Amino acid sequence: MEACDVLIVGGGPAGSTCAWQLKKAGLDVVILDKQTFPRHKVCAGWVTPAVLTSLEVDYNDYAKDHIIQPITSFITGMIGGKEIRTEYKAVVSYGIRRGEFDHYLLKRADVRTDEGVKLEEIRRDGQHWIVNNKYRTPLVIGAGGHFCPIARFMGAKPGSKEAAVKAQEVEFLMSEQQKTQCSVAEETPELYFCPDLLGYGWIFRKGDYLNIGLGRQDNHSLSKHVTRFVDDLVARGKVPGDIKEKFLGHAYLLYGDSPRKIVDDGMLLIGDSIGLAYPQSGEGIRPAIESGLLAAKAIIAANKQYDRKTMDNYINMLTQRLGKMEKQTASPFTETFLPKITQFVGKQILSNRWASRHIVIDRWFLHNNQAPLRA
Ligand SMILES: Cc1cc2nc3c(=O)[nH]c(=O)nc-3n(C[C@H](O)[C@H](O)[C@H](O)COP(=O)(O)OP(=O)(O)OC[C@H]3O[C@@H](n4cnc5c(N)ncnc54)[C@H](O)[C@@H]3O)c2cc1C
Repeated sequence: MEACDVLIVGGGPAGSTCAWQLKKAGLDVVILDKQTFPRHKVCAGWVTPAVLTSLEVDYNDYAKDHIIQPITSFITGMIGGKEIRTEYKAVVSYGIRRGEFDHYLLKRADVRTDEGVKLEEIRRDGQHWIVNNKYRTPLVIGAGGHFCPIARFMGAKPGSKEAAVKAQEVEFLMSEQQKTQCSVAEETPELYFCPDLLGYGWIFRKGDYLNIGLGRQDNHSLSKHVTRFVDDLVARGKVPGDIKEKFLGHAYLLYGDSPRKIVDDGMLLIGDSIGLAYPQSGEGIRPAIESGLLAAKAIIAANKQYDRKTMDNYINMLTQRLGKMEKQTASPFTETFLPKITQFVGKQILSNRWASRHIVIDRWFLHNNQAPLRA
């Protein structure tokens, strides 16, 4: 049996960020992940500068060996509708490739990893957990994303009554011919909302890689919405018509919609395993890494007392940062009551130049009103 101070299940941004901080504080950490890194992750790969600041990632250093696409403008609108261009004088966001980004963060955490290994078994032994009959640890962190096995162990039932966002995405390297059929500019991601405002699609070019996707808050006919969106993009000459790669799907919970338990004796969750994505944009990387930083802080402060009551401190930190865990009402797009008024207001916002800049982009997508969290 191998002993460790903390065992983290999941080496995505939440898990690797938490591990990075715990290691710096002198704890012996193991990350278990069912995949071997670098691994693909279904994601648009858009990150705000706050993410790089919180992670202490230097743009120039990262850019030496990885794709990182600076963003200086956006095009927004409704699918099939008028386009509004919002430009900035400086870089306001970045595009990364998740396979590269997550691998970089995992290596940088510099902890023991057990890759290509699923969580198979977890049982209690006094004040410790025995994981996969291999590791003995007083604290297990669930960072396994939406379907995290530790979240399930704590009672979560993904796919049941949880109101998850379902999304599909494809990312591929364009051929020379496909590049000539793509009118999307690298520094200008395009976001188009569904007519019922229950979701949006995006096109995002990172160098020669093209990422196309669409996510919705309802459960019906996601593939049809994706097909309609892509057909519209092809018809407008935005993307090539011969995409051979398959769209892949995944789900996540928006903050405020998650019924999941966050801490238990010797156990806590971070990132998508709780459901922390911003309700307005679905941005999940920033809250995932912030939860990783806060969990590390709470664990270090707990001084090896990992009972539920002590670890409630982590929940307090999380709600202080992200707001109360209740349905968020900041966006008309996530409101379900008075749908007609909501849709009317939403469409007005999306067709107005000022509102597109100051509400849709600055507030909902860039979260400019919240300073980066620092370790
Ligand atoms: C289509 C789509 C597009 C998105 N686009 C964006 C975007 O542009 N920007 C943004 O900020 N957010 C985006 N998100 C959300 C973002 O991807 C997540 O919020 C983020 O990845 C959460 O990080 P995490 O570390 O919590 O989980 P994950 O990144 O999901 O990592 C979980 C890890 O756990 C491992 N794991 C899972 N199960 C097990 C198991 N049984 N045993 C061992 N290991 C396991 C997995 O292999 C994985 O490596 C998008 C989501 C989707 C679905």
